[in-house]
Amino acid sequence: MLVATRCPACSRPHAWNVGTEHPPDGAQVAHFLVPVQRMWDDVVHTCRHQRIFCSEDCVDNWIQSTSSTRGYVMDLSTLWRFAAHWYEGRMDRGYVRREPAAAAAYLRSVGLSGSFWGL
Ligand SMILES: [Zn+2]
Repeated sequence: MLVATRCPACSRPHAWNVGTEHPPDGAQVAHFLVPVQRMWDDVVHTCRHQRIFCSEDCVDNWIQSTSSTRGYVMDLSTLWRFAAHWYEGRMDRGYVRREPAAAAAYLRSVGLSGSFWGL
């Protein structure tokens, strides 16, 4: 799948061919603004602010220019592991979403940690 975006801080374009075999190459980072405990307060706002930036410097510039509070920054490999199975089975009949303990275990298994993720 082709994933293409622009850095929210500097508008630099980025694109990757992302597959299931391995994470995409790149030193870019993903920034998630809204902590897990607040994600469902306004899920559109939450998803709109899960973005890929050129670097942590661009995250910091964006945080400052938007007067936002820094969220969670992860590298592309962590983002890829996180995304790889998060919605697994979602389109299957009888799908049941993860219970909180199973969700926490999944988040830990892909390398996420800390209070941002409720861990
Ligand atoms: Zn940038």
